[in-house]
Amino acid sequence: MIQLKNSEQIALMKEAGRITGEALALAGEAVRAGITTKHLDDLIRHHIEKCGARPSFLGYGGFPGSACISINEQVIHGIPSQNVYLQEGDIVKIDVGAYYRGFHGDSANTFAVGNITPEAKKLIETTKESFFRGIEQFKAGNRIGDIGHAIESHVTANGYNVVKRYVGHGVGHELHESPEVPNYGRAGRGPRLSVGMVIAIEPMVNMGTSDVIELSDGWTVLSADRSLSCHYEHTVALTENGVELLTLVE
Ligand code: MG
Ligand code: MG
Repeated sequence: MIQLKNSEQIALMKEAGRITGEALALAGEAVRAGITTKHLDDLIRHHIEKCGARPSFLGYGGFPGSACISINEQVIHGIPSQNVYLQEGDIVKIDVGAYYRGFHGDSANTFAVGNITPEAKKLIETTKESFFRGIEQFKAGNRIGDIGHAIESHVTANGYNVVKRYVGHGVGHELHESPEVPNYGRAGRGPRLSVGMVIAIEPMVNMGTSDVIELSDGWTVLSADRSLSCHYEHTVALTENGVELLTLVE
């Protein structure tokens, strides 16, 4: 069942969202060649805990990190490690969640490590653009399928593919709530959108095949053809005043 949120709940979620967004921005600013993914994870955990919140991902299903950090062909769920160093030319996806006063925030972004190829840059831009195409459809009376259709159309028009095995989701007291928010779909299909819905819209875009495989570590997901992959996510609320991006920090 979709749990609609009232304005007081959305105000609280804005706090969880702000902490999430700040932690992500902090990690993004620290991205450079030579640091480990564990270092980024530490920065994120420290910021979240300093704010009196707790990392949503830490211990989730046994996940050992505070953030998911995935490099290049890794799509999502990469485990932070003191043995994994960022290298010039990498793209790194950082996915963060913070739990604060009963609610979660969830946000991800893809960062360049130093100079990256024009192809990688375009993939990052297209992924972000596709998120905003999806957001345009997040309005009362539309359907979940309108969001996914808008995202996938923009992605495929640029020659890329959306990952289908993993999807966006409702966010609230639980990190993953109903409804599922696929990055594909048919316009006019799926659950109807209404004021009070809070969802994570999170296009995962592969340069090559949409197929993914899971590493034997039980977490890391990578593109089946090892092509580059990008991720962009915000927790967004549909209110009387329109859409609010709860995890966006300026
Ligand atoms: Mg996320
Ligand atoms: Mg999510």
